[in-house]
Amino acid sequence: PELAEKFDRFLVESYVEDNKKIKWCPSVPHCGNAIRKEDDDGEVECSCGLQFCFGCLGESHSPCSCLMWNLWSKKCAEESETVTWMTANTQLCPKCSKPVNRISGCNLMTCICGQHFCWLCGGATGLDHTWTSISGHSCGRYNDDKEWQLERAKRDSNRYTHYHYQYKAHADSLKLEDKLKKSILKKAVLNSETKNQAVFNDYNWVIKGMDLLSRSRRILSNSFPFVFYMFGEELFKDEMSDKDREIKKNLFENQQVQLERDVEKLSESLEQPFDEYDDAQVLKMKGDIHKLGINVDNHCKKMYEWIDKELLGPSKFRFQHFIAPYRSEGIEKAIVFSDRG
Ligand SMILES: [Zn+2]
Ligand SMILES: [Zn+2]
Ligand SMILES: [Zn+2]
Ligand SMILES: [Zn+2]
Ligand SMILES: [Zn+2]
Repeated sequence: PELAEKFDRFLVESYVEDNKKIKWCPSVPHCGNAIRKEDDDGEVECSCGLQFCFGCLGESHSPCSCLMWNLWSKKCAEESETVTWMTANTQLCPKCSKPVNRISGCNLMTCICGQHFCWLCGGATGLDHTWTSISGHSCGRYNDDKEWQLERAKRDSNRYTHYHYQYKAHADSLKLEDKLKKSILKKAVLNSETKNQAVFNDYNWVIKGMDLLSRSRRILSNSFPFVFYMFGEELFKDEMSDKDREIKKNLFENQQVQLERDVEKLSESLEQPFDEYDDAQVLKMKGDIHKLGINVDNHCKKMYEWIDKELLGPSKFRFQHFIAPYRSEGIEKAIVFSDRG
């Protein structure tokens, strides 16, 4: 039987290699599944729970195209290296706030504006110094805020940092909400066995709400790298006049703000301790989540439609950017073609 299994495996493996419509799930550690999808792009959810892009096998990244996502991932890795280096080797000038690199081992720093200051604490000093001390300067501690200051200095001056900051904030919320989802599910299962309240006979509405929350949170997060590339020079140079770009960017950012507002409301609503609620309170919560869900769903739908019609639609680079369509009912569940079980 073991040999037969191995032979089966061999068949599956060679079949997957040859077929564009079948791919291994990219989960780490690997869940063992091969996934079949009729159209060979778009997003899909494996039975192991991982949602990914069937085109590039990265995590779900719409409304970014595979190309945007690929560039963004590389950029994030490069930039985080730069920030680490800057944090370790740079101190901000106390007079003009420019970052100054430390090039020698000496603790006296001099900014191009002419200000001298202490490397250790960032305080302004005179020029008179020895290897171990700066005259007239009694050193405070190394500045704890340095990292934060640097972040801010960069954020103000750097387009990438601006969008990355928001992308990251929502990605962090997504992680927290995933934890919340797990704890809610546990709570619901536990209570359905012990408590005799009507609410626990059917808690599907909470699960559905949480699913929509994580999907829309991810879309919101990914919409920031989308803005970065759609209205930047790298991929869409000379696509729009400056005026046109400004108008379209404002309209898109308006949509982001509306989506963000309702996603936050949905998130707050789902955090309520519904297992301690009486039936009337539960009914109210259920109603709120239903209404917010409709709003969030509509914002997402509109955003994707707008990208398709107004932004990528008219672009001559359209063919380079396939955006996985938004589906109100959730990411397509995969057909598991084979598993190791
Ligand atoms: Zn999987
Ligand atoms: Zn992709
Ligand atoms: Zn300066
Ligand atoms: Zn010196
Ligand atoms: Zn000092």
